[in-house]
This record gives sequence, C-alpha cells and structure tokens, in this order.
Amino acid sequence: MITLVFRTHLLLFRRAEQHILWPDALALSTLQPQAVVHDEFQFEHQGRTYAVMEVDAATPEPPGFSFLSLRGLFGALDEALFARIGRVAQLLEWNRSHRFCGRCGQATERQQALARICPACGHVSYPRISPAIMALVIRGQELLLARGPHFQPGIYSALAGFCEPGESLEQALRREVREEVGLEVENLRYFGSQSWPFPHSLMVAFTCQYAAGSLLLQPEEIEDARWFPSHALPALSPPISIARQLIDATVAALHTQRP
Ligand SMILES: [Zn+2]
Repeated sequence: MITLVFRTHLLLFRRAEQHILWPDALALSTLQPQAVVHDEFQFEHQGRTYAVMEVDAATPEPPGFSFLSLRGLFGALDEALFARIGRVAQLLEWNRSHRFCGRCGQATERQQALARICPACGHVSYPRISPAIMALVIRGQELLLARGPHFQPGIYSALAGFCEPGESLEQALRREVREEVGLEVENLRYFGSQSWPFPHSLMVAFTCQYAAGSLLLQPEEIEDARWFPSHALPALSPPISIARQLIDATVAALHTQRP
C-alpha cells in the first residue's frame, strides 16, 4: 500500500530523477500520532492501493521526505494517477475550507462524499470547480504563445484565464484574448479539457483563428507574447499538460494541411 500524506495542500514525497518515492514505513511511523486517515478517499490504481492521510499544518517533515506541491509530480506520474491524486487534494481542500457554514457560521457535517450540510440552516456546500479557458490563437502557420511572470524561465504556453459569472466559455475566451494581448479571434474550436488541481480549476482548451488587432500585452498577466512559426517553437510545458497536448496537436494538423 502507498500512503499519500497531505499537509494542507502539500503532499509528502521525494523526487528522484523521473521517479516519485512515497513515504516508507519508517517515515510514516514518525507521523501517525497526529494523522487523520481518510478511508473515504482511498483508491486503487494499476493494482496498488493508495491510502490518504492528512496531518496537522505544524507536522515536521520526516527524514528524507518533503511536503511539496503537486506540481512536483508533473511529468513523473501517468496522467490517470495524477488526476486521482489531484481529485483527493481538491476534496481535502474543500473539506478544510468548508468546516463552517458560509451562511450562518455553524460547524458543518459531511452529508455524502461530495456534500457538506449545515445542521442549523440546511445550507449545503459542494466542492468548488472553477472553469478556466485556454486559447491557442492560430494565424496561418504561426501560433501565438505567451509567458506569464510566474512561468519557469524560457517556457511559453497558450493563453489562459478564468471564466467570470455570467459568461459562456466562448465569451470568456474572447474577453481573455482581448484583455491579455489585444486581439480579436474567430472560429473557436473545442479541443479538450483537464482537471487542474491548483487548487480547483477545470481547464477547457480551444483553438481559434486570429481575426483582427495587433499585439498589446497586459503587463500584469503577460510578460511576453509572440507569433512563433509552427516549425520553430520555444520551450513548452510538460507533455502531461493540456497546453502541450493542444499545441502538439495543432502543430501536427498545420503540418498535415501544408501543401
Ligand atoms: Zn448554516
């Protein structure tokens, strides 16, 4: 059995090159007095059982392991396992942040795996999912790629942003592209979606065609954005990310269409 030990939004592991090492019996023995075991979140993946444990925010790290962001798992786990762990992280985050009723302040109780109810006023809260759009803008054989101030050095990606109340995904996409880089786009095409547990987003990816405007960058969000020829792209995010899948599939389609 593998034990996933969460301390707030951080997970206990060690990364050795492309492999993840999970805490061993010795490391777990140092944690157990304060730990809460969440049997309801235990799962199986490829014949192995993953137990879920949560420790207090003050719990020290056992020797040889660290409490790290889930981002550190990226590229080292298969996509299905990453999604399972991301689901658990999101549910634990929701549990922690909905212990009291948002309407009347009473302590809430778990009603089902995915609902907490307030015994005083009946208010029910569900895990939050925040939809965000991703937009890969195409102009002929060129792709618009950008980098934000928090990106790793040299990495570029498609544009992305959160949907606002009252918007469709298409409206959110047009607004984000306009705000971030000053362009108008058309021919939006759905590509795919990916759960993005940082902390509870659902990334919905589209391609679109450039329609009008010239690049005008929003400095708080966009550090750089450029048109890259599809055969000369910069460094991109890891293959597990939907951004990378979107870019790779678009480049492959452009090269197939080429006369
Ligand atoms: Zn209440």
